[in-house]
Amino acid sequence: MTLIAVAIPVDDAAEVDAAIEAAVRAARDGADLVEWRVDGLADRLLPGDSASALRLVRRLIAESPKPSIVTVRSADEGGAWRGPDDARVAFLEALGAGDPAPRYLDLELAAFERSANLRQKARLAVQHDRQPRDLKTSLILSAHDFGSRPADLLSRLARMVDEPACAVAKLAWRARSLRDDLEAFELLLERRTPTVALCMGEFGLPSRVLAPKFGGFLTFARAEAMDETAAGQPTVRELLRRWRFRRIGPATETFGVIGWPVGHSRSPVLHNAGFDALGIDAIHLPLPIEGSWESFKATVGAMIDFEPLSFRGASVTIPHKEHLVRFVRERGGALCPISRRCGSANTLVVRRRDGVPALEAVNTDAPAALAALLGAGHRRIGRAALLGAGGAARAIAAGLLDHGAEVVVFNRSVERAEALARELGAERGLGAEPLHAAERGEAGAPRISVGGRLSDAVAAGDFDAVVNCTSVGMEGGPAEGASPLPEAFPFRAGMVVMDAVYRPRETPLLRAARAAGAATVDGTAMFVLQAEAQFAAWTGRPPPAGLFARVLEQPECEP
Ligand code: NAP
Repeated sequence: MTLIAVAIPVDDAAEVDAAIEAAVRAARDGADLVEWRVDGLADRLLPGDSASALRLVRRLIAESPKPSIVTVRSADEGGAWRGPDDARVAFLEALGAGDPAPRYLDLELAAFERSANLRQKARLAVQHDRQPRDLKTSLILSAHDFGSRPADLLSRLARMVDEPACAVAKLAWRARSLRDDLEAFELLLERRTPTVALCMGEFGLPSRVLAPKFGGFLTFARAEAMDETAAGQPTVRELLRRWRFRRIGPATETFGVIGWPVGHSRSPVLHNAGFDALGIDAIHLPLPIEGSWESFKATVGAMIDFEPLSFRGASVTIPHKEHLVRFVRERGGALCPISRRCGSANTLVVRRRDGVPALEAVNTDAPAALAALLGAGHRRIGRAALLGAGGAARAIAAGLLDHGAEVVVFNRSVERAEALARELGAERGLGAEPLHAAERGEAGAPRISVGGRLSDAVAAGDFDAVVNCTSVGMEGGPAEGASPLPEAFPFRAGMVVMDAVYRPRETPLLRAARAAGAATVDGTAMFVLQAEAQFAAWTGRPPPAGLFARVLEQPECEP
């Protein structure tokens, strides 16, 4: 079982009581080990007042609700200890050989290797084959790089493993992309000794959450309301509740949401609730990939090709929806009819046939948007104003054309609207027929035209539906609190107005439309429907009815 160690920094004698309370709360939340990060405390008291330092740290060990790790981290590896190595190693030796003793002492490989004298002292403090005394403490040898992946990562690990006194080898470095997490997983799979391999920073969450899948010895978590001791640490509760840490094992399948930025996405909460409800051994994680095509291609390719990850698919969001279609095309995969037509998809499905990955790009945005619009009571949309020309607009335009509607596109950059209309192939009666037109017994090319800038929509005549696919009004977006349409826009009763923006639910556009008597549909209906369709595409089963909508209602911070 992969353990959860909660890291608790103690910088001052006055903090000891609060630190013990925090450890007790973390243990109640589910932590298995407590790492007392006493570098700040030791830095203040050693070497002058080592008696007080020993007394305080022994109290932490004695009152620790779980077995403890004691760490006096040096400043050059991210800690607060600035003193000489021999003083802190002498302190660690006294702790290891004393009573009560911690379960583990952590010392950096760099310090351990600095001199024969330090090695000798560290070996004296811990249990190992050549230790004549019966000690209760084992040694964690560690290496940290807060800047990047160290060039000699593999050699560092080999030196730790080759040291007979080393019970656990620990490597932590700042990931440059999700590909560093894959390397951490490889190190775990090839381990010869209990190993911790963790990535720090915004790309590091998978290495922390998926450690049990690859046999990691432990993962570190943060106590509630305490600072991270390394960037990107989730709290114990987040790890256990949001990321379902205890349910992750070797067979767990990996899914995620790919975007940049992606930390705000609610997709993981929805899909993980679905996996739980149906007893599916899978996890859905945020997968940040920097915005370029090259990053998308390299990272998604590496995740698919690293078979032990069991990567089975992803939700794909801004700015990668078009990259997904290009990627699946290049890898010889299948495109659903809508993604083929509009060049944008929000769902990657990865199946394996005889170990060979078979990819599919699916667009669930378009049917979801249409279902949400039609759910507002309009069984038929004749003429629709589409605001925006990005990924969502492409998909929704295809869906509306499929429905048989006439679509007029308005966008800040008119050239982009023109490209959209051209690529959907209908502006001049060219290109694709509406999907299923034959089944409906209808004929004729779909009608899509460019209406101009967003302000031009005021004079563009009457519409049955208005759909906002710009990011205007989106929380944290480019025009938070604004409406994409001018006040003069002629909303009316009998019109349906939908906003793809789902945070906030009530946007200025919807407020204005409702005030004028129009029917409104907020972005959550579409969001839930597109997520339900993704879930079904991956698992072959829909999530329980109403589950995603209920989960979306819950307060976001509740892990
Ligand atoms: P995108 O590809 O980046 O496109 C953004 C669109 O917004 C473009 O048309 C852009 O115009 C326009 N825009 C951005 N800032 C603007 C501003 N300040 N003034 C006027 N127009 C502006 O994004 P997307 O993937 O299409 O997503 C668009 C929105 O839909 C987002 O808010 C997203 O969260 C939402 N969405 C919701 C769902 C759902 O399920 N509810 C699904 C997908 C997307 P230019 O072309 O001129 O840059």
